[in-house]
Amino acid sequence: MSQKSLHNHYPIVPPTSNFKLMEENGPQIMARGKGVYQWDDKGKQYLEGMAGLWCTSLGYGNGEIAETAAEAMRTMGFAHMFSGKSHEAGIRLAEKLEQMLPMDDSRIFFGVSGSDANDTQVKLMRYYFNAIGRPDKKKIISRHLAYHGVTLASGSLTGIPVNHALFDLPLDGFLHTDSPFYFRDAMDEETEEDFTNRILENLDELIQREGPDTIAAFIAEPIMGAGGVILPPEGYFPKLRALLDKYDIFLIDDEVICGFGRTGNAFGCETFDFRPDTMSMAKALTSAYMPLSAVAIPESMYQAMIDATAEHGVFGHGFTYSGHPVSCAVALKVLEIYERDNVFAYAAKMGSYLQQKLQHFSDHPLVGEVRGTGMIAGLHLAKDKETKSFFDPAGTAGAKVIAACVDNGLILRNLGDVIAICPPLVISEAEIDELVDKLGKSLDGALEDLKR
Ligand code: PLP
Repeated sequence: MSQKSLHNHYPIVPPTSNFKLMEENGPQIMARGKGVYQWDDKGKQYLEGMAGLWCTSLGYGNGEIAETAAEAMRTMGFAHMFSGKSHEAGIRLAEKLEQMLPMDDSRIFFGVSGSDANDTQVKLMRYYFNAIGRPDKKKIISRHLAYHGVTLASGSLTGIPVNHALFDLPLDGFLHTDSPFYFRDAMDEETEEDFTNRILENLDELIQREGPDTIAAFIAEPIMGAGGVILPPEGYFPKLRALLDKYDIFLIDDEVICGFGRTGNAFGCETFDFRPDTMSMAKALTSAYMPLSAVAIPESMYQAMIDATAEHGVFGHGFTYSGHPVSCAVALKVLEIYERDNVFAYAAKMGSYLQQKLQHFSDHPLVGEVRGTGMIAGLHLAKDKETKSFFDPAGTAGAKVIAACVDNGLILRNLGDVIAICPPLVISEAEIDELVDKLGKSLDGALEDLKR
């Protein structure tokens, strides 16, 4: 297909898109990548400051990973985990994860995406509580602005209106409570501690209203990514954990973005000091070179499932590509590189540098708040930073900043009026300088544009 026809004919239903705008403007076609850079089909170079969709931790065009995938394809290409079968890469990967995870004893279920990992979480909760004779304990609490995926169950866990609209979501049994969005939602003079106590009191009331015996789990991203890079206020997670313990409610830790070094530690729960009961992982598990997700559950849950299968027959859940051997081989290689090259420690160090540089934008007239930790950050744009008034409609300023970024050869993403920054973990100091410089120019350009 010629370049021209690629632009003129686009026979794709694009994911999460404004179809009308796509029809008018067409897609931007990305052609290749190396390290933290990508080039489009016209040869223009971009610094990729979003790690794709928060996932390409090791950057683009890694030959070592490509060789591993090619070798796994040559060796077998496919093997499954059904009917008593398994394969070496899957077993070794599960063992490796078990060693890495901040859980005592865990078992791993493999899938393909973050969405299916969270669907699996919902089904595991149902299966487990049915198995132990508590069939009423099924509801799951999530948070407004949470992003946990787009399938019917994970889309119900998601708390972003656009992911519910016209899909009849959320399904019954999925509840949403406050997000810990201190910058936007704190009342006048309210401290972070008071704010945290207030929203957790709301949660306590919700649990009591619904009945603790009807609630299986609470799901949380350590940092809420797609909802606007929302960091928990100091003390939020330890207090949340204590509240859930009081009512015997599981805490599902969605590490799909935060896992594997993004927040300056291996996992976000370590950065924010909480103990998960179960975990969802995807994205950086393979540095996005292959699709793969993993759900970790405690051994005690697995044992209850064994007892259930003795009575009810098989555990009827799994995907053709659960633990695809090429994906597992790639994940093993990626985890080996993380360890061998000290990628998490490097990302923590470079992350401090990035955060420190981004803090300079606090003085920018368009920026209401700079927030972040490790290698993830958000600039929350505000119309008037003193009065914290925001743009209406939301996204007005964000879209202008992103358009200016494209002109300046920088890929970032606006979540409404929050500019998300999430570069590959292997970014160098000089590349961070370049990112910050291009972002500064883009903010200035957008500000001029908004004044017109
Ligand atoms: N959970 C979180 C925290 C995410 O950010 C995402 C995707 O961005 C998902 C789940 C869903 O993952 P996927 O898009 O692979 O289905």
